[in-house]
Amino acid sequence: MSIYEVYALKYAGPFVRTGAHLMWYRDWEMIEKINYYIWCIRGGGETVVVDTGVAPQLAGEMQLDGYVNPAEVLLRMDIKADEVRHVVVTHMHFDHSGGVNLFPEATFYVQEAEYRFWVENPVAARPPFKHVSDAVSTAYLASLEGTDRLVLLKGDQQIMPGINCLLAPGHTVALQAVAVHTARGTAILGSDCAHVFRNYHEDWPSVLIVDLVGWMRTYDKLREAASARDLLFPGHDRRMLEDFPQVAKDVTRLV
Ligand SMILES: [Zn+2]
Repeated sequence: MSIYEVYALKYAGPFVRTGAHLMWYRDWEMIEKINYYIWCIRGGGETVVVDTGVAPQLAGEMQLDGYVNPAEVLLRMDIKADEVRHVVVTHMHFDHSGGVNLFPEATFYVQEAEYRFWVENPVAARPPFKHVSDAVSTAYLASLEGTDRLVLLKGDQQIMPGINCLLAPGHTVALQAVAVHTARGTAILGSDCAHVFRNYHEDWPSVLIVDLVGWMRTYDKLREAASARDLLFPGHDRRMLEDFPQVAKDVTRLV
């Protein structure tokens, strides 16, 4: 089985958030900076991109601070977005799936329940859900249904030896984390199962909870799967950029 390396690539931010955004219903006065990231897994001649970031048009409409096209950030690692073959979409919030059209050759791996919710469930059009989704990228994924470019996963599934998608609900209906076989054992790219490292360390979720009981079970599952506590990576912590070896501008090697 290949040994993989895992990289975080910042594509927007920093953004100021209150503590209560990052630690649900706590720390109202605290202020913290976060970033938007995509991730990249490399090893054995394979490249898997985890999440897509936001496409330039949406970033312009939203006036995202510090935005760089995720395809340009990938180029700093000599990865051409239009040649990437494998993209895991952890969940269908705009900051994670809003750049699917930057990857015209990719197969996208999404949990079926996550996909069905955003594409088919009328609740997804209600304000709190609409607020965090992106109609353009959701429609793009829907246009791929039935082709080999969209793989709808049903629960925990391996996408290649040493890379497993783990169903991890809580923040969304069917968010998926990615378990990666690395030199240090299994690392977990947990995306927004934790916005910051503190969520894992303090056993406390962040915001946009669709299933709080499920979220706590997700923490049990991901802790069990990770080979060490410091191999659990969150979705938005600025420390992923600041505390790890930089390999290119705004690109760090997590493990
Ligand atoms: Zn997010």
